[in-house]
Amino acid sequence: MERSNPSTRVDVAIVGAGPIGLCFANALSRRGVSALLIDRQPRASLEAPPSDGREIALTRASQETLEALDVWPRIPHEERATMRAAKVFDGQSLFAMQIAPRAGQDAELGCLVPNRVIRGAAHAALSAASEARAEVLWRTESEVEAFAPSADDTRVEIRLAGGEILEAALLVAADSRFSTTRRAMGIPAHTYQHGQHMLVCRMHHAQPHDFTAWEWFGHGQTLALLPVDSHCSSVVLTLPPAQMDALMTLPQADFETEITRRLEGRLGTMTQAAEARRYPLVSVYAERFVGPRQALLGDAAVGMHPVTAHGFNLGLEGVRRLAGLIGDAREAGQDIGAPRLLARYQREQRLATGPLFAATLAIVGLYTDERPPARLLRKAILRAGEAAWPVRRLIAGHLMRSAG
Ligand SMILES: Cc1cc2nc3c(=O)[nH]c(=O)nc-3n(C[C@H](O)[C@H](O)[C@H](O)COP(=O)(O)OP(=O)(O)OC[C@H]3O[C@@H](n4cnc5c(N)ncnc54)[C@H](O)[C@@H]3O)c2cc1C
Repeated sequence: MERSNPSTRVDVAIVGAGPIGLCFANALSRRGVSALLIDRQPRASLEAPPSDGREIALTRASQETLEALDVWPRIPHEERATMRAAKVFDGQSLFAMQIAPRAGQDAELGCLVPNRVIRGAAHAALSAASEARAEVLWRTESEVEAFAPSADDTRVEIRLAGGEILEAALLVAADSRFSTTRRAMGIPAHTYQHGQHMLVCRMHHAQPHDFTAWEWFGHGQTLALLPVDSHCSSVVLTLPPAQMDALMTLPQADFETEITRRLEGRLGTMTQAAEARRYPLVSVYAERFVGPRQALLGDAAVGMHPVTAHGFNLGLEGVRRLAGLIGDAREAGQDIGAPRLLARYQREQRLATGPLFAATLAIVGLYTDERPPARLLRKAILRAGEAAWPVRRLIAGHLMRSAG
């Protein structure tokens, strides 16, 4: 990269002001570490994000982290949907595995919050934190063009698309599972194209859901219902792309009839409450999470399949881990981009995410396989009891674990 005198120097440059980039800058600011956020979106849409249809199931640990970052109190109560229990159905069977907190534990299994609301609250909390604590700078409607280590290897020089040069002790990529920064860092990623698309859509229904989430592995489709309000749920439907094309182009009345039919009328007539969104399902696991003065965070490191509801939760675990190590290094007067610090982040974050990523892929494989042996195995697992139920262990166990 051609060198020139940088006009701006910060401790950490973060590419991507998604929920993870925003929370990371906030956590750094609270530890006296300055940050600069670079995002291709305009500031207004980061401040008040449009709906993307995602309802995020938050673990206890995530709620605690959001509380510590002053994000949780900014999430209005009416936007927090309680999940008291979950039911898992297989095929046409009415038999369901119940997932509920153990006796003696709190009455809630988890809490669902729209992604749009988390992002808005994370932006507001960051603005407040950066006024009182270490500086946070912004470059929006902007992208990184190139970066390279400084001549003395103590910093990384970053050139933005408009030509501006910045310097940071550490460059962090938090620019989604399709991260272009990860690619520019030369970090390969294991990418799994699941060949399925996921539809998410809020719908009203005639029968109440009792604040219970449903996960339903039907033949040729996977359906989930996430409680929003007593007679409103977020419908999550996974289908092959061609079938999804057909569904998404139906007129509203036909779409509603089709969703009611797919749910076999179990909650009565379904009526659309918001626009339906669609996501191609791609899981990503980066081969490395760090490089020289570089780190990956959030979906840029681990892009989970949404079925076990872990992506944002694991991203926040990474925020806690990396911001904690950087904050401790700053307090001790050490280099915040030192190889040893980055190696520790990588080791711990891979341990925390690798088994869950692999187990989620295995579950997706088992529950989208329509061959008879897989269907028999699903039934056997479902009837073997709570302890053997992998979704229960992955969803309930993880949701209720605290930051510790
Ligand atoms: C349907 C669905 C349901 C989900 N449900 C759950 C759930 O229940 N629980 C859970 O924990 N997780 C869930 N997730 C996952 C969760 O949404 C993600 O893990 C989370 O959004 C990741 O945040 P992020 O900040 O890492 O990335 P993103 O949210 O993807 O944000 C990336 C940011 O980077 C910016 N950007 C991208 N490229 C560039 C570039 N080149 N230059 C500059 N800026 C760039 C974008 O504008 C964006 O602001 C779900 C996901 C989906 C799709």
